[in-house]
Amino acid sequence: MRRTNTCGELRVSDLGKKVCLQGWVRFSRDHGGVQFIDLADRYGITQVVFDPEDLPAGTDAKQLEEVINTFTRECVISVDGIVRNRVEGTEDARNPTGKIEVLITGAELLNTCAIPPFEIGDQKEGVLPNEDTRLKYRYLDLRRTEMIQAMVFRSKLVHLARQYLEQNGFLEIETPILGRSTPEGARDYIVPSRIHPGTFYALPQSPQQFKQMLMVASMDRYYQVARCFRDEDSRKDRQPEFTQLDLEMSFVDMKDIQDMMEGLMAYIWKGLYDEELKTPFPHIGYRDAMERFGSDKPDMRYGLEFVKLTEVVKDAPYKIFQNILANGGIVAGINLKADVAGDKVGRNDVDRYIAYAKKVGLGGLTWMRCVNGQLESNIVKYFTPEILDNIKQTMGAEEGDLIFIIAGPWKATYESGGFLRKKIAEDLGLVPENEFQFFWMDQCPMFEIDPVSGKYDAFHHPFVLPENDLDDDYVGGACFDLCLNGNELGSGSLRIHNAEKQIEVFHKLGLDDERIERNFGYFVEMLSYGAPPHGGIAIGIDRICAILLNKDSIRDVIAFPKNKRAVSLLDGSPSKVDDDKLEELQIISLAGEDLDLSEYEDTPEE
Ligand code: ASP
Repeated sequence: MRRTNTCGELRVSDLGKKVCLQGWVRFSRDHGGVQFIDLADRYGITQVVFDPEDLPAGTDAKQLEEVINTFTRECVISVDGIVRNRVEGTEDARNPTGKIEVLITGAELLNTCAIPPFEIGDQKEGVLPNEDTRLKYRYLDLRRTEMIQAMVFRSKLVHLARQYLEQNGFLEIETPILGRSTPEGARDYIVPSRIHPGTFYALPQSPQQFKQMLMVASMDRYYQVARCFRDEDSRKDRQPEFTQLDLEMSFVDMKDIQDMMEGLMAYIWKGLYDEELKTPFPHIGYRDAMERFGSDKPDMRYGLEFVKLTEVVKDAPYKIFQNILANGGIVAGINLKADVAGDKVGRNDVDRYIAYAKKVGLGGLTWMRCVNGQLESNIVKYFTPEILDNIKQTMGAEEGDLIFIIAGPWKATYESGGFLRKKIAEDLGLVPENEFQFFWMDQCPMFEIDPVSGKYDAFHHPFVLPENDLDDDYVGGACFDLCLNGNELGSGSLRIHNAEKQIEVFHKLGLDDERIERNFGYFVEMLSYGAPPHGGIAIGIDRICAILLNKDSIRDVIAFPKNKRAVSLLDGSPSKVDDDKLEELQIISLAGEDLDLSEYEDTPEE
């Protein structure tokens, strides 16, 4: 028997055809001797029927029935048959093959299947087991239509990206997996060298340095669907390994890179949805994003913007604000308009938000409600009528509106305020579904300064081109993020292409000459050999697929992800290795007990 069609292919136009289908037995049911089987493969599901009363002359019905009786759920079978109409009233309008069925005239069991640990095929979330079980038997989980659709979508998206970039003169070039550590801000996964005991490779956190080298090597336009590895504490949307669409271009400015990305996104959009994506994308500056939305990747599909109140309350005899302002902090408010939300949020909800605010790091959350034209709350007594009136005006507060006021150090307070804003929007159903809003977050600083130690950290990474003198009070970085619906899809920048400038930045970041030489000597040297002006960007493939498919987690668009504890339940990694292997590498393990993978099952959402 040889397959003639897939299980998603046959239609009414195929009536009467002799076909051979092969696939998995998803469900079967027996109606008084007539057996109906849902035969599934990647392409769909076709109903195949064993009907002893309706077999072509000469068919050995008994022998056929014996074969069919050996079929169990998820076993692999091959059936020969004839395409026929379904009995009127039994068509399945949701299934593209739902008008027809295949009358079985011959059957073969190609392989048996052990009893599956969970039911495959019903897409209702309720029937799904916990995620760890799905991950342990991922090859079964992937048989589910929803997972197949995610894999198809992802493959198509990557294919479209490749097409566009090839059309625009980009070369796909692979860079090493075994290399030296790159300063992308996370811990490295390290790989011991057997040939040179005591030395280690690092798995790339991104191909950053190699792609810059490719520009020095005159490649002009590079891209790669690159696997990146970052040893970070598990978070909802993080994986130890993830995939970036990584690119780099020579002789460009920021706009050139952004134009290319917008073109790429529009091309992907057209290919996926047959729709025009609106370009150019809007821009928002980093400070503006933080101060209006409390995030450097704000979801701007809904309002709830913060309004600065620092000036308004600076003379209020309210100790808490006074202390915060004396330490350079900010006070800002968010107005839940009565018609949108304010009058739905009662006193108990306010308490709930105060508790939530504490959880996300806000020292306190103050509130005021506009009642009978006046602001009311337990703290209004600390404010003069003029100041209250000014707060009311500044916030545009009207009858029934509820104002939340956040106060504290600039960054931490806005960031926590951003979490609160998101929570309120989600609770009140203000986040529009199926609306995709791309934008650029730019006008970023070059450095972040730790308020306690005064130490400089790179805002993006140390290869970003500073926009002004490093001794200026504020140094801008030529970097930007591409954001979508409150998520950062990726970041890009112009790069330093001058060795002295690169050394200057490393100095600013606290690296001395010896450390620069040891960690980046080769890189700085490379810049001295005619490095062209260049820049690039990297976009998270997992992330964009998850957002476009409305998935909660990037694990749902990765074929074989690790679980929330960075464990692969499928192959039991990470695992111990035999002592003789460690000996060969001249490594001694100080760890004790074996990792018990079972303890990771049912890990709660963080
Ligand atoms: N390598 C950077 C990252 O992974 C992206 C870039 O600057 O191109 O975030």
